Amino acid sequence: MKILLLGKNGQVGWELQRALQPLGEVIALDRQVSPEGWCGDVANFIAISNAFEQIRPDVVINATAYTAVDKAESDLEQAHLINCLAVKHLAEECQKHHALLIHYSTDYVFNGTDVLAWKEDDKTMPVNLYGKTKRDGEIALEQNGVSFLNFRTCWVYATRGHNFIKTMLKLGQMKDELNIIQDQVGVPTGAALIADVTAQAIRYYTLQSAEQKELLHGHYHLAPTGETTWYDYAQFVFAQAREHGQQLTLKQVHPIETQAYPTPAKRPLNSRLNTDKLQQNFKLHLPHWQQGVAQVLEELLP
Ligand code: NDP
Repeated sequence: MKILLLGKNGQVGWELQRALQPLGEVIALDRQVSPEGWCGDVANFIAISNAFEQIRPDVVINATAYTAVDKAESDLEQAHLINCLAVKHLAEECQKHHALLIHYSTDYVFNGTDVLAWKEDDKTMPVNLYGKTKRDGEIALEQNGVSFLNFRTCWVYATRGHNFIKTMLKLGQMKDELNIIQDQVGVPTGAALIADVTAQAIRYYTLQSAEQKELLHGHYHLAPTGETTWYDYAQFVFAQAREHGQQLTLKQVHPIETQAYPTPAKRPLNSRLNTDKLQQNFKLHLPHWQQGVAQVLEELLP
């Protein structure tokens, strides 16, 4: 099996480079031109079409995205290009080359009302432009008719890249007091888990008959079990850091409401994702969120 991975250096892309190896030949690209002369800049449609023509992948994994949620509010054109138009182009190429397209999306396609965990076919209604561009990318997949698996996830962290855990570790060593939002609920999801689930899902998919494959296509919610708030998540990170002997300047953490911390992009309050479909269709077990966070902290803390 030939797998083309795009966005190899993002949080999820980096972990995919590891997790995909046992599945087959992995060609991992980023925006730069590879030694073989392939360019993985998804906004460069000609380069991407050339790469498809020469590589002829069986599976394409799109780990690229415009993920700057607040910046997207004033940079819609670029966010739309990467999160929607580039996805549409990848879908067209996958369709042409009969390749399976794996894609990632976000809980931000929902409006965050209610307290129930979102199911795959719940009504989407993004409250910010990042969420809107991600939803538009999903619609491009649906309309194209390509064979796709789209994993919607939330609150992604990794040892690599920018994320909440790293920000908290830094602030915990610089500040005496912090205000952290306590009315947004979600599930911290490790890029390593996303990559491992992706690899397992591809493996399971390839072993199915054509009819069964058809039934597997579509959207999936991917997050560990349990739930938390940003406030409790931060407290967990600080507690683990102290257990590891980390010296923190931080004395107090204050829980605040979302409205006390205005940002350019609105955030949904409820980011819970119902993962039953993923677990049932691919026969998978998902761990509790604290397991992955604790493991990444082990790696990050001296
Ligand atoms: P990152 O921001 O860590 O990685 C995104 C990658 O996309 C970067 O390596 C970036 O490269 C690359 N990229 C952007 N534009 C292009 C382009 N034109 N051509 C090629 N590569 C490009 O994202 P994550 O790994 O965190 O996210 C993975 C997926 O999960 C995304 O679909 C995201 O929407 C989704 N998601 C993420 C969440 C999060 O909290 N991060 C939450 C919910 C969903 P470069 O560094 O060169 O810009």
